[in-house]
Amino acid sequence: MKKRILVTGGAGFLGSHLCERLLNNGNEVICLDNYFTGQKQNIIHLMDNPYFEVIRHDVTMPFYIEVDEIYNLACPASPVQYQHNAIKTIKTSVMGSINMLGLAKRIKAKILQASTSEVYGDPEIHPQKEEYWGNVNPIGTRSCYDEGKRCAESLFFNYYRQNNVRIKVLRIFNTYGPRMDPNDGRVISNFIVQALKNEDISIYGDGSQTRSFCYIDEMIDGMTRFMNSREELTGPMNVGNPVEFTILELAETVIRLTGSKSKIIYKPLPSDDPMQRQPDITMAKSELGWEPKIALEEGLKKTIKYFENIV
Ligand code: NAD
Ligand code: UDP
Repeated sequence: MKKRILVTGGAGFLGSHLCERLLNNGNEVICLDNYFTGQKQNIIHLMDNPYFEVIRHDVTMPFYIEVDEIYNLACPASPVQYQHNAIKTIKTSVMGSINMLGLAKRIKAKILQASTSEVYGDPEIHPQKEEYWGNVNPIGTRSCYDEGKRCAESLFFNYYRQNNVRIKVLRIFNTYGPRMDPNDGRVISNFIVQALKNEDISIYGDGSQTRSFCYIDEMIDGMTRFMNSREELTGPMNVGNPVEFTILELAETVIRLTGSKSKIIYKPLPSDDPMQRQPDITMAKSELGWEPKIALEEGLKKTIKYFENIV
């Protein structure tokens, strides 16, 4: 059945892939974005589709529409960008969630929140299970994002308990792939761009910190499966690739796959940078039958191909 679906942050990296997938599945999609970190270029190929609509709007302002489902993705996701205007980042997560939850309540829409592994902060439990409450510095430079997203989770569960809003809270772990912004400062885009230009590869700290990287197509698969899952399944649910790499291993792999002449250099580690991160995806496996299969090298090759055409 064709559904009408609102995607906030639809012109961003994840949002543009989500809009595309939802349209391909036969839905009508409304993409809402203020273009802070997103770009029209990410969705230009969808503009000819009569079932696709784009609206320039800021989620911190109320928004009225009739839809069946809402995916709330609006929020800058790279540390450089979310720290650029930290107060605005908090407003986007908190006021954006209040506006979208209020809308969902009024029109009885189902709503999914793009939460994050950052709610676990610098985790002391490894791998991270959904029950873990996290280790977040509430006043640090990352707190605008982490605490904004944690407050958003609280809002979602309070609208669920108090107003019976149908919620889905998804904790997204590091995701990569085509349409990442080459300048947004995230590790995969930075390393690939540096390698393709034969520039120094900038490792922050000694490169022993870890991350687990999920290829975009599989993330979108997990996200849509969760939205369509049984109603009682509110989450929070982890979705990410559980195979963990050190940042040094990532740098070496990117250099090898690009055949680059780049050298690795070491820069100071930003404050509160989590030392380890790996999702426990037992819940996603059993509830959604979802498990990533695309290995990092395979996904990196596709991503490198994309960057070769734009840098
Ligand atoms: P992105 O920066 O590419 O996309 C975010 C989009 O939101 C952009 O198009 C931006 O213009 C838009 N936006 C920002 N503030 C807005 C506002 N106030 N009003 C309307 N639109 C606004 O980032 P992404 O990687 O696509 O991330 C999308 C969502 O997924 C974010 O909520 C992010 O926190 C979450 N997430 C992403 C990752 C990841 O690895 N990419 C990991 C965890 C969580
Ligand atoms: N990082 C790095 N060099 C870069 C960009 C990032 O070593 O040019 C490190 C960063 O310090 C962090 C990891 O890579 O430990 C992932 O950073 P990213 O900003 O991609 O995501 P997040 O920290 O939010 O997981």
